Amino acid sequence: MRRPLQYLAINLLFCTPLSYLPRVKHMKIVRTKKELQSELHALRSQGCTVGLVPTMGALHEGHLSLVKRSTEENSATVVSVFVNPTQFNDKNDLAHYPRTLEADCRLLEQAHATLVFAPSVEEVYPEPDTRHFSYPPVDTVMEGARRPGHFNGVCQIVSKLFDWVKPDRAYFGEKDFQQIAVIRAMVADLRIPVELRPCPIVRETSGLALSSRNTLLSPAEKLTAQKISQTLFASRDFARTHSVRETADYVTGTLNACDGLRVEYFEIIDGITLQPVATWDDTDYIVGCVTVFCGERPVRLIDNVKYKEPTPTC
Ligand code: AMP
Repeated sequence: MRRPLQYLAINLLFCTPLSYLPRVKHMKIVRTKKELQSELHALRSQGCTVGLVPTMGALHEGHLSLVKRSTEENSATVVSVFVNPTQFNDKNDLAHYPRTLEADCRLLEQAHATLVFAPSVEEVYPEPDTRHFSYPPVDTVMEGARRPGHFNGVCQIVSKLFDWVKPDRAYFGEKDFQQIAVIRAMVADLRIPVELRPCPIVRETSGLALSSRNTLLSPAEKLTAQKISQTLFASRDFARTHSVRETADYVTGTLNACDGLRVEYFEIIDGITLQPVATWDDTDYIVGCVTVFCGERPVRLIDNVKYKEPTPTC
């Protein structure tokens, strides 16, 4: 039994849906769609609800926070570990992407994942995926403008995973802020019956957003990279007394002044439409999204900060 007895007792007392649901004791690792579907069939026939956490592996606490949330909200959690070639517009980036499946599985077992789906490229793409996804304006700005084909590749893999797993809920990190907007558009377009659950960014104590790409930074570069989140956080105070334009210039100027950092873009946008805002009064959801090249290689890092957030409704 994974959950402490006390928790189980509370659940039984209040009869929350999770309390009746079976919990799978041992995590399984599957490589093929066929195995995946047979495991899912067994879970569903026991009445399990299924949460999906799509990842490219090289897992860290950011990924694990998504897994944790899924295990809290579903009786079974499927984690996919697949470095999706169709979302890499830079072949060099794909070649250097860290691959650590064994260590990932150890972490996922500790995090109480139910199933790990780690397919080969041939399993996912037995033939080239010729589907074309287009959701302007959310997929054409920022990352969409700089990484041609990236979001098309993301939609290809996520739509396949949604189709194979048919999750009740799917978990995505707000670190990839634009990705969530694009997937939301795809889910609406294809009428996929899944609840999307955005999860907050997990950071190191220094503020640096956790990323699989951080492993590619030298210790000195990692120190430099801390400046990214520090500047974003400082810009929230700066924004109280300055315009959107001045705040954008402050962030870009501060980061570009650091040796070893080069800003690719910093945009202050509406959190839903992802369109640039001109003033702080334009909308009630305002986010600053940045992409910075860091260090020798260089490593491309993304981060974002919320300047204004709508108050959650029940
Ligand atoms: P990736 O393996 O980079 O494709 O990421 C898989 C999922 O983990 C995506 O939904 C990411 O947004 C999410 N993720 C990555 N880093 C973090 C982080 N530092 N905090 C929260 N979620 C994250």
